[in-house]
Amino acid sequence: MSAASPPAGLLPPMRFPRALLDPLARLPAADDQGLVAVQLEQADGRIRAIHALAAGSGAPLPLALTPLVEPHAHLDKAFSGEAFPNPDGTMAGAMAANGREAAERRADGVRRRGEQALARAWRYGLRAIRSHIDSLGPWATPSWEVLLELRRHWRGRVELQLVAMVPVGYWSTPEGEAFAAWVAARGGLLGGVLGAPFRSTPADRAALLALLRLAERLGCGVDLHVDECAEGHGRGVALVSDLLRRHRLAVPLTCSHASSMALLADRPCRRLVEAMADAAVGVVALPTTNLWLLGKHQRRTPSLRPQAPIRQLQEAGVTVAVGGDNVQDPWFPGGDFDPIALLRFSLAASHLVPWRRLGLSPFSTAAAQLLGLDWDGVLREGSPADLLVLGASSWGELLARPPRRRVLRAGRWLEPPPCEEPSPLLTACHG
Ligand SMILES: [Zn+2]
Repeated sequence: MSAASPPAGLLPPMRFPRALLDPLARLPAADDQGLVAVQLEQADGRIRAIHALAAGSGAPLPLALTPLVEPHAHLDKAFSGEAFPNPDGTMAGAMAANGREAAERRADGVRRRGEQALARAWRYGLRAIRSHIDSLGPWATPSWEVLLELRRHWRGRVELQLVAMVPVGYWSTPEGEAFAAWVAARGGLLGGVLGAPFRSTPADRAALLALLRLAERLGCGVDLHVDECAEGHGRGVALVSDLLRRHRLAVPLTCSHASSMALLADRPCRRLVEAMADAAVGVVALPTTNLWLLGKHQRRTPSLRPQAPIRQLQEAGVTVAVGGDNVQDPWFPGGDFDPIALLRFSLAASHLVPWRRLGLSPFSTAAAQLLGLDWDGVLREGSPADLLVLGASSWGELLARPPRRRVLRAGRWLEPPPCEEPSPLLTACHG
């Protein structure tokens, strides 16, 4: 495959999840992996036709997806972990290192990190990222200016959504209200942190209600870090859902993390997920950062591994996406804006099964819905000719080893991603 634009016509045969193909297309039934063999026809960067292939004929075919969506990132602090390490891997250590790094955060550093993140995301096969930005302090204005510039630069390749993260009470101040109007005028979202753990005091309730009313007035969405802890049993998401329902507020609202609600017993958990569904709250589960930080004990391996209860939420009708959150920063030392690495990790960490629609949707269609993207990621005639084709012919092979991949965007094959570049660290090692 070359970087040049292929001529209009047939793409190589592939196996596609049925859930990512037009439900109205006349295709054979999916196999036991939820896959259908197809051959796609593209022209002018769009899918012109989806042709069914006879099952079981010929050589194994590559597994293919549409480009995936990262619903929760922090571009302003990505790749800062080596300079500002958190060797104990605790929340307190992360907070302290984040503070030291933020004090030195400048426009050029945010630009370098943001550019690196987007360039990687593009070649790995992401088509959109929602990033939170630390937005209270001298670093806020330069961070926003740089990331708005990068949003313009990458538009049409990786769509970037920006969320202003401040203490929730700040939105009730005159400066906070003015900043909210500034963010809303630029298509951003309002954010903040509930917890952790969240106390849910009357003051917390008043501040949160003020934020929701402000967002409704400005017509912008809200994305909160909520209940990122191993205590509190979902108090933050419960309050958010209660306020939205009680005051009939029409605000697109995402609860990121929603971790501690996993500690609720079955019945109260069911009541809470039903309230969340009724309030139309979306959830972004963040297994990597949760498993790295929560319940951390220096002398023993924790038995409680709180992360959003994805299955119960989905069963109640809540839209759930899975995100990578922190990338090589004080909160999590790994990650690389690689959606396939996140998918492979999360299948085991969150017990998701990609051969079922709801196992794959958190990385694809549900994430697109949560971000309100124009395209849901389902291939139809007229969809973008955008593909993420894997060097694995089955879900088992995908789990067995990190696959090589090729990304097609608007009918053009991209350069291979960073994980396929030769390692300069190994040039001196010869057998
Ligand atoms: Zn986060």
